Amino acid sequence: MERRLPAVHKVLHHPRLAEARQKLGHKTVRQAVREFLTACRAQSNWHVSLEEAVENVASRLESLTCASYPSVINATGVLIHTNLGRAPRLEPPAGGYLALELERKTGRRGERLGPVRERLIRYFGSEDALVVTNNAAALFLLLAANARGREVIVSRGELIEIGGSFRLPQIMEEAGVRLVEVGCTNRTHLADYQKALSPNTAGILQVHRSNFALTGFVASPGTSSLAQLAQEAGVRFWVDQGSGCHLDLSPFGLKGEPTVQTLLGDGADVVLFSGDKLLGGPQAGILVGRRDNLEPLRHHPLRRALRPDKGVLVALAATLDAYLAGDLRRVPLYRLLLETPASLKRRARRLVKKLTTGGVPAEVVPSWAVLGGGTTAGQTLPSHAVALEDQPHLAQALRQGDPPVIPREAQGRLILDLKSVFPEQDGELAQAVLAAWTQRVSKRARSSASSPATFKAS
Ligand SMILES: *Cc1c(COP(=O)(O)O)cnc(C)c1O
Repeated sequence: MERRLPAVHKVLHHPRLAEARQKLGHKTVRQAVREFLTACRAQSNWHVSLEEAVENVASRLESLTCASYPSVINATGVLIHTNLGRAPRLEPPAGGYLALELERKTGRRGERLGPVRERLIRYFGSEDALVVTNNAAALFLLLAANARGREVIVSRGELIEIGGSFRLPQIMEEAGVRLVEVGCTNRTHLADYQKALSPNTAGILQVHRSNFALTGFVASPGTSSLAQLAQEAGVRFWVDQGSGCHLDLSPFGLKGEPTVQTLLGDGADVVLFSGDKLLGGPQAGILVGRRDNLEPLRHHPLRRALRPDKGVLVALAATLDAYLAGDLRRVPLYRLLLETPASLKRRARRLVKKLTTGGVPAEVVPSWAVLGGGTTAGQTLPSHAVALEDQPHLAQALRQGDPPVIPREAQGRLILDLKSVFPEQDGELAQAVLAAWTQRVSKRARSSASSPATFKAS
């Protein structure tokens, strides 16, 4: 049989692969071409056109040639969206070197965490503060450094799973701590904690029910009575608050939650939380509280392994500066929260006008956004959205557009909720929807025209 596989150099130098060559280099593209041809030989598939080969190589390299972590327009109405990096980022700082561990006055080696620690102490009014990679790491380190080989008491109503394999009992086990469960799922009383105290108790841990709400016949002792019990018993009292709620949420139309500052005021020895939930900063695990509780963490062998990156520290310091200055608008998450329903409605109307003028049927609908990210479970934020007919391939075309738009799918419609969209993105959003609308038509044409003839080598 005649062998008709295209030559490596012909595929490699095809104009269709110019962008891939420029972006990834000849070597990587050549490797993909060889992989494809090897797969063809292994399957005894000798009849492959140059175009088929080029298409196959292009799709093999697609995940490398498209943007790695593209910025997206979040139109889901979920403000802290796990799949979209939780809290929106502050402007990234310029590249290059930075004085990360340098005391500029003396030229000596400085303390890496110094600037953020100082800001955390000032803002939260705590004695000490520490930052690690995320809240899960913060909890692990707190327990490992303060309670290894000893008992920690937790209510059965607070043994949470956060998702992404964070299960409280497992973290405690890995930290070498014996979990003592008290109370029932719906009700735990102070006396339950009291009875569980033993000479081997290291502390009491209160955990925020981040991603679910418990209502009905429920009870749990308040933070201050737990703090008092712990103090009388000579054990420690820690609160895994998770959400990083640090200010009154009622002006945003949400129910008040105890803030980090309140929990410290109530007598918690340490409060820990995520930097990228309601603090609106980068991914980090933040611990604030008493020095004698946090000092052991600094000497723990795993501390180095859980050290935050310099980019995180820069963004965290900038976020805290905004709060210290009382300027919420500098923090993107709060800029979104401050948008009023009236303004959202105006923006939705303008958007609908642009879309319908461009031939895309759309209408303004009232909508409910959520904070998300394991904060304020069960609560909603009034919003306005643009509803589109959910045409085949439209959502995909939106997600793969430039910039990508992530809609919410609801009852056969695509909802573009403006609560999670920055006002300056509205123009881009309209353009992206118009482009995706056209795109979906050509996608539909392609998918019905093609099919059995396409060749795929794995
Ligand atoms: C979110 C959350 C965590 C995990 O925080 P990460 O920063 O994602 O590691 C732990 N505990 C509580 C109560 C949380 O809400």
